[in-house]
Amino acid sequence: MATAGKILLTVMLTAALAAGALHLPPLNLVPLNLSPPVAHAATDRVQLAFAGDVLLGSRVGKLMDERGPDWPWAQVAPVLKAADLAVCNLECAVGTSGQPQAGKQWTFRAKPAALGGLVRAGIDVVGLANNHVLDYGTSCLLETLDNLDRSGATHLGAGRNQQEASSPRIIEINGLKIGLLASSLLVPTLPGGKGTWAATDNKPGIFSGHDHQRLLQSVHALSSRADWTVLFLHWGEERAEYPQKWQQNLASQLLEAGADLVIGHHSHVWQGIDRREKTLVAYSLGNFVFTTRPEYPQQQQTGILLVTLSKRNIEEVRVVPAQVFWGQTVLLKGTPAEEVLTRVDRLSARFGTYVTPEGLVEREPFLDTRSHWACPVLRQAAKCQLVQGCQDGTFCPQDPTTYAHLVTMLVRALKLPVSPASSGSHWAAPYLQAAVEAGLWPADQVSTFPADEPVPRWQAACLLDRTFSLDAPAPAVPLYIDLDAAPSSSLISILRVSQAGIMQGYPGGRFQPLANMTRAEAVVTVLRLLQKREATAPATP
Ligand SMILES: [Zn+2]
Repeated sequence: MATAGKILLTVMLTAALAAGALHLPPLNLVPLNLSPPVAHAATDRVQLAFAGDVLLGSRVGKLMDERGPDWPWAQVAPVLKAADLAVCNLECAVGTSGQPQAGKQWTFRAKPAALGGLVRAGIDVVGLANNHVLDYGTSCLLETLDNLDRSGATHLGAGRNQQEASSPRIIEINGLKIGLLASSLLVPTLPGGKGTWAATDNKPGIFSGHDHQRLLQSVHALSSRADWTVLFLHWGEERAEYPQKWQQNLASQLLEAGADLVIGHHSHVWQGIDRREKTLVAYSLGNFVFTTRPEYPQQQQTGILLVTLSKRNIEEVRVVPAQVFWGQTVLLKGTPAEEVLTRVDRLSARFGTYVTPEGLVEREPFLDTRSHWACPVLRQAAKCQLVQGCQDGTFCPQDPTTYAHLVTMLVRALKLPVSPASSGSHWAAPYLQAAVEAGLWPADQVSTFPADEPVPRWQAACLLDRTFSLDAPAPAVPLYIDLDAAPSSSLISILRVSQAGIMQGYPGGRFQPLANMTRAEAVVTVLRLLQKREATAPATP
């Protein structure tokens, strides 16, 4: 059969050369969906929606005078309402009393009717720990608290005294206790040397985070009472793309103290997200409902951060891209949506986090694959636990794959039963045993299994062919000009895996049969094989 295969190839190669048909298709990595989608409706899960800075005064207030208090929220309301709990930072006083604080550049106050629009849009909780809630003085802060109490929205981070300003809220949803706390690292001073906006035992104000120890203690205390501890933090530098070092240090301390989610704002622009298995830091969500400054288009880029929690895990994190557009926040599609997601992806890279084109926020599995051509496939393979990286967090995608690695991946991909290793043997021995039992590796060649040797591409073709039990090739197949170097016994396998689209050649019509298969190529071929199997598997009734 091997000789027949070689003759067939030669005949076809000659025909193809004559027709000038040696152009190989580019690598076409079809996205696979191997992990089941998160079921949002599950009753043991809670979806939280976070939005950044909300300003209902100034020009937005004037627009609401004309168009009504629901106007800013009309497009985003369905997303906020669909979440179990929606939280934003309310960056203004809400009332009719008080005077703008003397000497303060920007002072914001919204009319009480504005809160109707916010509540009807689905916002359940507002953070008030920021540098604008006291713009119209203490009387208007007290009025703001009363107006919020009447509106039905829960508020955090400001109060009639320090105790109230630093009080957390614990909201139980679907059996999960969500603990919320808000604090500001921006604490304006009062004119005339009369202190700051920080609440004290007998003075209304905001929960200042300047005393890190007190903030850490509050977080720690809350974490012992809640399943999930969420800190809403107003901090950082305006229009800065990246958080400062002290913010990153403080974030680490807050996580250590018991915070699970740290959600930041104030910079007016998106900053990166640091997603870990059980924690999340979003350094800044940017503006959400705000005045438009055409000279800073990035301040208009915004979104809603959806975080789905179960009792134990952060099940899903997703960015819903949006844009502030003249007083209304609109949901984005197409290129503008891509621009927001690409931006958050880029800003999150230094935190080992990536954002997919669909807006999913994920942990980068390896330190050295982000700019590799196979990156999306490697992320997918890591997610479905097909591959693990090295102990130092790298994957070394250009290194040769070994027989042990390839066989292990095939056994995992086929979900073959694996028995525990006997001590002292090679780490891949249980996988080899499973491969032998499934007929992927000859039983009489176990003792000569070259575990740690690189796999040449012709050998990989044979192994993949055997694994998949590919059909005999039809005439229209990819051809290569360099197969003379391949053992004749492998030609039919090379033909089959190529025809099935599992292995591909290189530009110039070369297969490079003697080249070692790289670790990245091995992952791509195994995932293609899996995809092929799924496509041809009989439909389950
Ligand atoms: Zn601010």
